[in-house]
Amino acid sequence: MDISYILNQLGEDHHEYFNAVSPPIVQTSNFLFDTVDDMRKAFAAEYDVFLYSRGNNPTVEILKQKIAALDGAEDALVFNSGASAIFCAVLPFVKSGDHIVSVKSPYTWAQRMFDVILPRFGVTTTYIDGTNITHWEEATRSNTVLYYLESPNSWSYELQDLAAVASLARSRSILTIIDNSYCTPLYQRPLDFGIDLSLQSATKYIGGHSDTVAGVLSGSRAHMEKIFYSEYMTTGAGATPFHAWLLLRGLRTLPARLERITRTTHEMVRWLKQQSWVTALLFPHDPGFPQYELAKKQMKDACGLLTFSVQAQTVAQVEHFCNALRRFRMAVSWGGHESLIIPKCAGMPREAFDPANPSHTQIRMYVGLEEADVLQNDLQQAAITAFL
Ligand SMILES: *Cc1c(COP(=O)(O)O)cnc(C)c1O
Repeated sequence: MDISYILNQLGEDHHEYFNAVSPPIVQTSNFLFDTVDDMRKAFAAEYDVFLYSRGNNPTVEILKQKIAALDGAEDALVFNSGASAIFCAVLPFVKSGDHIVSVKSPYTWAQRMFDVILPRFGVTTTYIDGTNITHWEEATRSNTVLYYLESPNSWSYELQDLAAVASLARSRSILTIIDNSYCTPLYQRPLDFGIDLSLQSATKYIGGHSDTVAGVLSGSRAHMEKIFYSEYMTTGAGATPFHAWLLLRGLRTLPARLERITRTTHEMVRWLKQQSWVTALLFPHDPGFPQYELAKKQMKDACGLLTFSVQAQTVAQVEHFCNALRRFRMAVSWGGHESLIIPKCAGMPREAFDPANPSHTQIRMYVGLEEADVLQNDLQQAAITAFL
């Protein structure tokens, strides 16, 4: 199935809604049944029918089919945030006494689940540097049931060898879950490498317009069904029809946006590396990246996020640079139309800033849909005031 077919046609039945090109937002909480028998059948198989919109809804259903197809998965679920996709992917598969191996520094709220919530129920987590397969092996115990991956990480871009981790996991009957937000299935399809469940924050590239918070998860039908009947339904974690509609709208242009962002990002990487005030740069598809070969192998391309360090002796210099930017704006998140930065020093007390610590002068950049020269000129004028 080609991507254009998935994005433009799959799952859409125009005859059901007046041949409208754009599917309707089926804004209903519940669905009618003509007979007791129909209702009985629906109660017995809620996963397969429209009964109540906390479960299934026709607008959400179209999106589910497209996400599953993009991921090369049997099935998918759509959530009201990436964080709830993470929570609902992990929780159904662990019980008291179980052990998880996770990459170190996963997404903030995934880490909070591992550190604060799961220990209350007797589930422990070991964090590892996931760049080396032997670390996975060494951390695995007899009670390890789950490997949690995030490749690349969204600040430092460490990768895991997906095929190697998946094959180790399979040999021990361990479930694998990956956060694939950085790549989207357009640039990396984790299930093709043997990973069981792949999730994304759809807030980022799938929404694509900085106006929706949502998450998506793909895997086997059996896994999706298990999650549906447990945490998905009990926590009410599904996306609303309106949010699913916004994500469908975003999906239509995903390849075009990624193509543009990819081109601009590569131009920004080349330019940044030539600037005297840039002391280091991290980007998975840059030949200088420590895991460049692996990135080339498992990621079709890379775009959007990169992290660079600036030549600053004081925190004031970094602040001055960031405050002077006019076209880059300062905000969390990424994947929208607008270019963004987050300086590392915003996440620490001013007094803690140490110019000798390479991470303290880091700035994470998200490259949006603006022209490369507009972005470069902006960085240049801010650098002149701060560093030159
Ligand atoms: C944003 C993000 C999440 C969380 O997604 P939300 O939609 O904000 O809940 C998870 N993982 C990564 C890598 C993210 O960037």
